[in-house]
Amino acid sequence: MGYVGRFAPSPSGALHFGSLVAAVASYLDARANKGLWLLRIEDLDPPRTVPGSVDNILSCLDTFGLLWDGTLMFQSQRQTAYQAALEQLQQQGIIYPCSCSRSQFQADPLYTCPCLNQPPSTNNAALRIALPHSKVFVDDVIIGPQTQHLADQVGDFVVQRKDKIFAYQLAVVVDDAEQKINHVIRGSDLYQQTPRQTWLQSCLGYKQPTYGHIPIIINGQGQKLSKQNLAAPLDMSHAPALLSEALERLGQTTPCTLRQAPVAEQLAWALTQWDITKVPKRMQDPIAFI
Ligand SMILES: [Zn+2]
Repeated sequence: MGYVGRFAPSPSGALHFGSLVAAVASYLDARANKGLWLLRIEDLDPPRTVPGSVDNILSCLDTFGLLWDGTLMFQSQRQTAYQAALEQLQQQGIIYPCSCSRSQFQADPLYTCPCLNQPPSTNNAALRIALPHSKVFVDDVIIGPQTQHLADQVGDFVVQRKDKIFAYQLAVVVDDAEQKINHVIRGSDLYQQTPRQTWLQSCLGYKQPTYGHIPIIINGQGQKLSKQNLAAPLDMSHAPALLSEALERLGQTTPCTLRQAPVAEQLAWALTQWDITKVPKRMQDPIAFI
């Protein structure tokens, strides 16, 4: 089967420069490998969805010439699939209810949830997954390999919250499997979450995609560009300059003559030149965008 990649923004606001870099990286890697590039809207948590942001994301991608294949997937419409995956895990006896509060975990970093051995009597419980006492190895085409001991370094994580919203970790692996995604190129804020996802994939009998994590883009204050810290929405009137800046951040420097060229021209050039080994590797060394 050929390359299938994806871009999966959450509609909690307008796209910012960090999301543009992730979109461009996953698009170019898919197209340079003659692959498909699918789009998924990660609206798992409906109250966090900002009205109008899906339209904004689609029109942004359109402006930058980042045209996706197939139909859009919305996580808000995927509850049945998540429930089926959860039941599959429950049948393996590795899911348990937990009534501990977030503040119990936050108050004490060494807090150990007792719920695995002493099941809570209340129904108001999240569902956690019991992790193995073993190491998980994941290679990464950009950053390189990592090994993580899930039980020690992560701890049993929530797969369904108390309010019945499915956790991102479960949804993302179920959706990647459904869309037959075999290459995931995304921001390195998710690098350390990848072993959790590959472990869930093995529990659910899914194939593991190839992963590549691009460096995080930071603002002038050293913070990750994100909607939470009010990263500026992309200014569409400067699309050519923003695209050439994004390519530069990905180690694919545009020739001076192309810097102000229309986005279609820049993308066509970038496709012929795309080299994932030139993407900066070090996640400890985020790239400033001011
Ligand atoms: Zn608990």
